[in-house]
Amino acid sequence: MNKIQVDQIKKIKKLLSEKRKIVITTHNNPDGDAIGSSMALYHFLIKHGHKVDAIVPNMYPQFLAWIPGVSKMIVYENKSAKAQTLLAQAEIVFCLDYNAIHRTGSLADILERTEAKRILIDHHIDPETDSFDYCISTVDTSSTAELVYNFIQHLGGLEFIDKPIAESLYAGIVTDTGSFSFSCNNNETFEVTADLIGRGVDAQKLHRLIYDTFSESRLRLLGYAIHNRMIVWEEFNTALIYLTKADLKKFDYQVGDTEGIVNYPLNMEKINLSILLTEKEKMIRMSFRSKGKFSVNDFVRKHFNGGGHMNAAGGKSFTTIEKTIENVKAVLPVYKKDLDYVLSYKSK
Ligand code: 5GP
Ligand code: MN
Repeated sequence: MNKIQVDQIKKIKKLLSEKRKIVITTHNNPDGDAIGSSMALYHFLIKHGHKVDAIVPNMYPQFLAWIPGVSKMIVYENKSAKAQTLLAQAEIVFCLDYNAIHRTGSLADILERTEAKRILIDHHIDPETDSFDYCISTVDTSSTAELVYNFIQHLGGLEFIDKPIAESLYAGIVTDTGSFSFSCNNNETFEVTADLIGRGVDAQKLHRLIYDTFSESRLRLLGYAIHNRMIVWEEFNTALIYLTKADLKKFDYQVGDTEGIVNYPLNMEKINLSILLTEKEKMIRMSFRSKGKFSVNDFVRKHFNGGGHMNAAGGKSFTTIEKTIENVKAVLPVYKKDLDYVLSYKSK
């Protein structure tokens, strides 16, 4: 955390020196980091006597339902009137794990209009800093959960990190690093994690709760996606999986069931870019993952209405699956050279 950010935290500390009405918000289709960082901050602020509510735009996946206190989160899609009242009354709104207000989907309109102070804690590239009163934003950090840990640390609050807070933070770190397989080249991430384990986190148990919770139909959907719905463009070191609404119905799709599917094509040695298309009601949701130096953030910003991180990004397409596949295929030749690399022990 740099000097400016530490300075921002000092100002926030002052703001928090009185009991406040606080709302914590996070992005649409919340993932482990969104929910973990939100719930950790929620418990921490409640311990300090603030009135705190956490609002998510839409439902979180079931594999996060064990996170302590998560059932208290207000799902905007289900309880919009209550959420609107809370946001109207809030003095402070924390904005966790998103870099632009529009990432909160249905919440965005109200967030844009709120008179509360907006505090950003996030690790995505190019935050829209003008939208926030305070910004704690760095792209070098594994997860927003790690940033929330740093935030608590700089507020002098480490002693308040009890087991529920530690577990929530751990959930954010472990999911956003793919179980410590990417975005974890900083020793700080491991130091924070070691501290969380020292505070009661049972890493093996949480791993099982997060990852070993598939229903039979979810595992079969994964098998089907790879076997029947994967296109490999070897010449562009790219693979794409697509899932139609009918596919999802066939496998009794539940929120979160497609999570992680996009990572599998990268297990192939020569595949450096993986894309998952999921057909939704009014658009095609696009997920991108890359290995090594190919920036999916740049790629998606340029072509597919979204962004994210260097090696993980999301986007949207407003046409059919077939046309979306064609559109992807059409832009790949431009990137042929950028995508053509193989990792060796010596390369980065
Ligand atoms: P996922 O593929 O898991 O939905 O998203 C991968 C990463 O990209 C996540 O860190 C997520 O926050 C980010 N992301 C997903 N969709 C969007 C988007 O539409 N815009 C931006 N800027 N980032 C996104
Ligand atoms: Mn994150």
